[in-house]
Amino acid sequence: MEGTAPSIHELRWNPFLGQWVIVAGHRGRRPWRPEEREKGFRCPFCPGSPETERFGDGWDVIVLPNRFPALKPDAPEVARGGDLFRRGRALGICEVVVETPEHEGDLHTLSLEHMARVVRVFADEYRRLGSLPYVKYVAEFRNKGKEIGVSLTHPHSQIYAMPFIPPRIEAELGNFKRFFEEHGECLLCSVLREELRDGERVVYSNRHFVVVLPFFAMWPYELHVYPRRHVQSLDQLSDDEVLHLADALRVVTATYSRLFDRDLPYIMVVHQAPTDGGDYGYYHLHVEFYQPYRERDKMKYAAGIEWGFGTFTYDGVPEEKAEELRAACRRAVEGLDAVLGSCGY
Ligand SMILES: [Zn+2]
Ligand SMILES: [Zn+2]
Ligand SMILES: [Zn+2]
Repeated sequence: MEGTAPSIHELRWNPFLGQWVIVAGHRGRRPWRPEEREKGFRCPFCPGSPETERFGDGWDVIVLPNRFPALKPDAPEVARGGDLFRRGRALGICEVVVETPEHEGDLHTLSLEHMARVVRVFADEYRRLGSLPYVKYVAEFRNKGKEIGVSLTHPHSQIYAMPFIPPRIEAELGNFKRFFEEHGECLLCSVLREELRDGERVVYSNRHFVVVLPFFAMWPYELHVYPRRHVQSLDQLSDDEVLHLADALRVVTATYSRLFDRDLPYIMVVHQAPTDGGDYGYYHLHVEFYQPYRERDKMKYAAGIEWGFGTFTYDGVPEEKAEELRAACRRAVEGLDAVLGSCGY
């Protein structure tokens, strides 16, 4: 069967939801957790592999093309299709950011300076990919843990340079814009002011960033990282802000690892402005973390009500979970070599 049918690679429009689906037939063949399934497996992200050898030795952070890209700069032309069954070209770029030559680790096992270089790569790639004419959005994210299907354990993040603005960002942009028009100020700046006034859900803060379990969290241990300054994207951050964001991100992953004293899976996403040339001055950069456990051994699943209807139930009380996270943060900070802020408010 494999290799006989021409692989389909295109966007398809879901008219019910008004959003694109990326159809990438070739991705069905990618290995799942090859490290466990294949003897003699060699990590493609370790120094000396065919993928990394052109960087030689001595690199700390590198950007590689994704070997199974969902979006490609040379994606085949497609006929647009009718009004109901619309198609689009799967144009874009998918990259992997290999964050360290070390095969094991997490953001908090990198030194603060090293982590700052990772953030700088994210900022540089946002600007570089965002300047391509067909890229309307640069999605930067990190998946960790087999529970959420991560196929390679070597520390890495991913970047999708996309030909459309993804729906969650569309939703945020609509609400930020409406709030700005009604109140004359930024929604996130206002939320951050309230969170700092309340203090109950603030887990960590440093000079330039605040980590909160939001009032409106959907996942039990969801954390958001908010820049205090009103900026739209990572490339607007000063060197000092990059360093403080690196600090906040290290503290978040260290906090997760101390929460139940074991490695926890998580998803990290960077929400920044689209790169389609529009004016998004009303938007505000932030990083969101979702973590699928609700208790030590209980996963929170996105099932019927969440997937089927888009409504989340929060199992617990956000203020209590924030207190748990603050306690984990204090233990985490003790174990980190360099920390620029403090737990709580
Ligand atoms: Zn490796
Ligand atoms: Zn703002
Ligand atoms: Zn967001």
